Amino acid sequence: MADLGSQYRRIKAEVEPILHEVLESGRYVLGKHGAALEEEIATLCHAQYAVGVNSGTDALKLTLRAIEIRPGDEVITTPFTFVSTAEVVVLLGATPVFVDIDPHTYNIDPEQVGQAITPRTRAILPVDLYGQSAEMRALREIADRYGLWLIEDAAQAIGAMHHNQPIGAFAHAAILSFFPTKNIGGAGDGGMVITNDRAIADKVRSLRVHGMNGGYYYEDIGYTSRLDEIQAAILRVKLRYLREWTERRRYHAALYRTLLADTELILPTAAPYNYHVYHQFTVRHPQRDLLREHLRARGIESAVYYPLPLHLQPAYRFLGYALGAFPHAERAAQEVLSIPIHSELTEDQIAFVAEAILEFTQAEVALR
Ligand SMILES: *Cc1c(COP(=O)(O)O)cnc(C)c1O
Repeated sequence: MADLGSQYRRIKAEVEPILHEVLESGRYVLGKHGAALEEEIATLCHAQYAVGVNSGTDALKLTLRAIEIRPGDEVITTPFTFVSTAEVVVLLGATPVFVDIDPHTYNIDPEQVGQAITPRTRAILPVDLYGQSAEMRALREIADRYGLWLIEDAAQAIGAMHHNQPIGAFAHAAILSFFPTKNIGGAGDGGMVITNDRAIADKVRSLRVHGMNGGYYYEDIGYTSRLDEIQAAILRVKLRYLREWTERRRYHAALYRTLLADTELILPTAAPYNYHVYHQFTVRHPQRDLLREHLRARGIESAVYYPLPLHLQPAYRFLGYALGAFPHAERAAQEVLSIPIHSELTEDQIAFVAEAILEFTQAEVALR
């Protein structure tokens, strides 16, 4: 599903001298690579500010702190996402309010967002799942109409576009993750907050160093959440390959679409106004577990993102949702399968995966 070792070998000659220089410099946090990476990401996203933090999860948590999400507040989000999205809301004492997804894009359904707004709603937190932007333009209209914050979880979508605008453009703030397997990943954890709102940027900058504002003077209860220089240096090298690696993912997606066109498999839906960066290439089949077994027997890895929606997870049972609450998310959780798409794959490997899938779907049809 990812081949980070071979990715590293391709950029090793560029990375190693810089790592050496960082180690020799003795400056390991809040140094020049962190600041430069912030500038480069801000430029990429046409945003005024970018603030590096320890992880994508912390980027979400510090952003929600910056907009003063508090106990009693409601934050509308999707149940079909990585756990962080809802976890941070609960950690701040607020309540995640789930609404169902669009069954084609797997992203939060704006119409249902409108219906979930109450007097306690403070923010909408959509996710750009699998590398495709959520319906950010429509969601911004809703947020503006009701005076809500719109925070975009773009952890899976660096480089993506929506109506010709980069991720974050329609939100008050967006977050990125540099977890190793994300489209641009470090050799450890990292994350970033992107915003045009100076107050949010300043607050996150302070919260990442314990709420400090000036030397050992604290205006807030904060966190230890810095992006270190080693990670920033590696990420800066990788960022230079973002376009090439993204185009490679998109090319692999196009190959799969051609090779798998004549099957009953449901392929990913990419809206024409979205530039999808294919963090995952996620297909759908009613016999998903059998398909996965079939691929595994041929030495092909695959993954299920995500096997159980958040409203049905034991940790989130206290929110009181029942089975059947979000039928599209629940059905997707049973049928989705992500197949290898990363930039290090060869055309032969893509063809090999597609052939194995065809073998399965043809055998399935023959059985009927
Ligand atoms: C990866 C991810 C995160 C969390 O990022 P970390 O850097 O692992 O903390 C948050 N939301 C989504 C949708 C993710 O995929």
